[in-house]
Amino acid sequence: MQHPREAYDVLVIGAGPGGYTAAIRAAQLGLSTAVVEREELGGVCLNRGCIPSKAMLRSAEVLDLARNAPAFGVTADNVRGNYATVVERRDRIVAHMLQGVTNLLKGNGVDVIRGTATVADADSVAVQLIDGTTDIVYFRNLIVATGSSAARPPILGANLPGVIDSDGALALREAPRRAVVIGGGAVGVEWAAIWSAFDAEVTVLEMLPQLVPTEEPEIARELTRTFAKQGISVATGVQVREIRREGDHLAVVAAAGDEERITEADIVLLAVGRRPNVDGLNLEGIGVDLEPRRVPTDAYGRTNVPNIFAIGDATGRFLLAHVAAHQGIIAAATIAGQGDHAFDQRIVPAAIFTHPEIASVGLHEAEAAAQGVPVRIGRFPFAANGRAAAAGEAGGFVKIIAHQETGEVLGCHIVGPNAGDLIAEASLAMTLHATIDQLAATIHVHPTFSEAMLEAAFVAQGTPVHIPPRPIRREAAG
Ligand code: FAD
Repeated sequence: MQHPREAYDVLVIGAGPGGYTAAIRAAQLGLSTAVVEREELGGVCLNRGCIPSKAMLRSAEVLDLARNAPAFGVTADNVRGNYATVVERRDRIVAHMLQGVTNLLKGNGVDVIRGTATVADADSVAVQLIDGTTDIVYFRNLIVATGSSAARPPILGANLPGVIDSDGALALREAPRRAVVIGGGAVGVEWAAIWSAFDAEVTVLEMLPQLVPTEEPEIARELTRTFAKQGISVATGVQVREIRREGDHLAVVAAAGDEERITEADIVLLAVGRRPNVDGLNLEGIGVDLEPRRVPTDAYGRTNVPNIFAIGDATGRFLLAHVAAHQGIIAAATIAGQGDHAFDQRIVPAAIFTHPEIASVGLHEAEAAAQGVPVRIGRFPFAANGRAAAAGEAGGFVKIIAHQETGEVLGCHIVGPNAGDLIAEASLAMTLHATIDQLAATIHVHPTFSEAMLEAAFVAQGTPVHIPPRPIRREAAG
């Protein structure tokens, strides 16, 4: 019998932000580590998700700013977008970051195996290599970091040419003239914002009662208002029934209550969520319990089989790159015997990179009410923030939710400039169980957007400095 080659301490399937981070950390902790990847290193986030979309959103923002340049005392004639250059710039950024991930894996001594992995046995994986041959790779611990793929909804006509998902959106070499975006979540609204900046007529159709359904209703209202100003149509509470080709265009047929609504488009983007990549891995073959289309784990990333871990989108709960990376670090530390840090589902910040930007962490006001948690709220508008005024970014607000009695920060919701960066302060506050009094006692640089966090804490204390106080009710004398 042929003797098996040395087993890796850690074998990771998938080199997205979850998998490559886990691999790097495992190697840093002294474990022999390999990662198997069937496509590009960096996963969806780097190649087809976070980074390319943010590069394009930045181009959209620059275009908007250039169009508004006269308001800043700057003459900018004949401002036009050049979508081909936007795409070229995006691809250069992705290539640069890809080189970075390649170097980091190499520099940390992680072996990279190019091919498609299937679990063969309790301690081995079969890898179909790029050249068509199969190799068996042995492991002591396996981390499943296989990510997710765009979901295709069962809508009649969803497979017609011109009906695309977010991968298809990236492949476009010019902006559509008319686009319908089905799904008003993060991916849908980001693409709506990009195409609208490049002069497309965009309609977003959302089945639920509000745009960005995972956000607080008042955040969704602010984005809907801004989208209206930007010329993006939004219809909520509509169910798409069919997409059909009519001559040179597509017609999207949706039901809005008793009425039928037809919207014409050249491109229809399906942005209705993502499905974990679990099928075909043969995890069930080695006794891993699967839930429909996801790999359940404990707070350390461990499945019911002690040496098999899963992280990131494959676990199907929070489909976010920073969550995948965080879970990767926890899983690697746990395997190395240093796992004293569990994943805390209470504190999962998320951002949507529209203009204005949106970010949130922790409890919503309605959730607090439903759970019977008494809260005080501090809400502060960017209209009263000096930096926002100077930057011409005075829309939106910060809303901090704190426990009524203890003042502990329980949640934060932001719509406005740099929301995705500002939310880190609230996440840290929640991690440290900090209170609004501690936020309010922390010096924030002036003039910065971050002062809106400070002021929201002041509001929650009942003593705002830069917005008028609530009228003081005086008891009538005598
Ligand atoms: P992935 O990034 O999906 O990587 C999994 C990897 O595993 C892939 O490279 C795949 O090829 C490989 N793989 C799968 N099966 C096998 C196999 N059998 N053998 C070998 N290799 C395999 N998140 C954010 O936090 N911020 C954002 O701004 C953001 N923007 C996004 C924009 C878009 C358009 C999209 C689609 C997603 C966005 N996301 C964003 C989500 C983010 O991309 C994912 O949450 C993140 O990529 C998940 O990381 P992961 O490591 O779990 O999986």
